[in-house]
Amino acid sequence: MITEKVIELSKRVSGDIVGELAKIDEIAQANTEKVIAAYQNHRISETCFAGTTGYGYNDKGRETLNAVFAEIMNTESALVSAGFVNGTHAITAALFAALSPGQTLLSATGLPYDTLHGVIGISGDEHGSLKKYGITYTQIELKENGAPDIKALADYLSENPIGAVYIQRSRGYSERRAVCVDEIGEICRCTHSIDKNIPVIVDNCYGEFVETAEPGNVGADIVAGSLTKNPGGGLIPRGGYVAGKKALVDAAANRLSAPGIGAKCGAAPGGHRSAFQGLFMAPHTVAQAMKTAVFAARLFELMGYETSPGFGSPRSDIIQMIKLGSAELLERFCKGIQSSAPIDSYVTPIASDMPGYNGKVIMAAGTFIQGSTIELSADAPMREPYNVFLQGGLTFESGKYSIMKAASMI
Ligand SMILES: *Cc1c(COP(=O)(O)O)cnc(C)c1O
Repeated sequence: MITEKVIELSKRVSGDIVGELAKIDEIAQANTEKVIAAYQNHRISETCFAGTTGYGYNDKGRETLNAVFAEIMNTESALVSAGFVNGTHAITAALFAALSPGQTLLSATGLPYDTLHGVIGISGDEHGSLKKYGITYTQIELKENGAPDIKALADYLSENPIGAVYIQRSRGYSERRAVCVDEIGEICRCTHSIDKNIPVIVDNCYGEFVETAEPGNVGADIVAGSLTKNPGGGLIPRGGYVAGKKALVDAAANRLSAPGIGAKCGAAPGGHRSAFQGLFMAPHTVAQAMKTAVFAARLFELMGYETSPGFGSPRSDIIQMIKLGSAELLERFCKGIQSSAPIDSYVTPIASDMPGYNGKVIMAAGTFIQGSTIELSADAPMREPYNVFLQGGLTFESGKYSIMKAASMI
């Protein structure tokens, strides 16, 4: 049930966010035209949708999808693959592509996202981690205002040999804001002015199509992300991507399959239609998610909660954080989101352990694709300060309805 109070407040919210929604529409327009141009330049036709079996040699769909994706990401090459089990896997392939044993990985945006800790070897040293391969790790903290510390980066790079620089665009489950594409450019310029051969790797999760430029436009060497987030448009059922310099994408492909095989194999028995259609939808779907985030930010601000970003602040990812402040409010909020979903609306989200995460996490998601976070979802680590992280929304109408329902539970 949506309360009278929330209905009244929502009317005010709708008026307050008109300007923000118009800006989001402009970004979606530009990105949609960019996607269409790439499809036209690569002469995408029905024959690109056909499936392949076995080794998957000469898969026209796979080859054109990679080429289209590279053009959209403004990179030399790309590998879009259902063989990546998730975003973490794609980022892992990018890390191993850019680094060799004995080198050091430097994060320019502080502590990476939870699921990367095991990959890097920040927590433990499981077989297959960078640490086990003799790759060490260090990080530079973001500044107080969330901006990258370019001076600290320059100082560090001029005094220490570094194998690769790492950037996490999105906030993940932290209070820091997203790093915008211009700031990614500053990190790339700083790194390459010291040594143009140091690869800059970007975890682009939740960032695709939020701005009109991507990290590839500003000098990133390899970018990785998940297809069940922004670039899948809510239609691609699984997978991830890497996009960047050809040598690095080839190296990531070798890590995904095998040296010598790279991206030349990999059948798609179900064909490529949903991949092409999802990528086509993605700029629009990302806009729906951003509108939902802006609506949530303004509504909860009016209800007296601190939100980040604020409803009128610049965005470079689709995540909206709301400081709920207690375990009870967090649970009620997640229940509201879950109960308003088209799928699994009857289940109750309960905090539990998740693979790759430290401590209990509560997740509300009533999604068509399991765990898809371009669909409306709310997650939160069950710990102080009880911030909820909200993202997605396939349609603004359904997103708005869910936010109003969650707000009515608070
Ligand atoms: C979602 C996400 C990832 C990867 O997560 P998967 O669940 O493995 O797809 C990596 N980094 C950030 C910042 C993310 O938000």
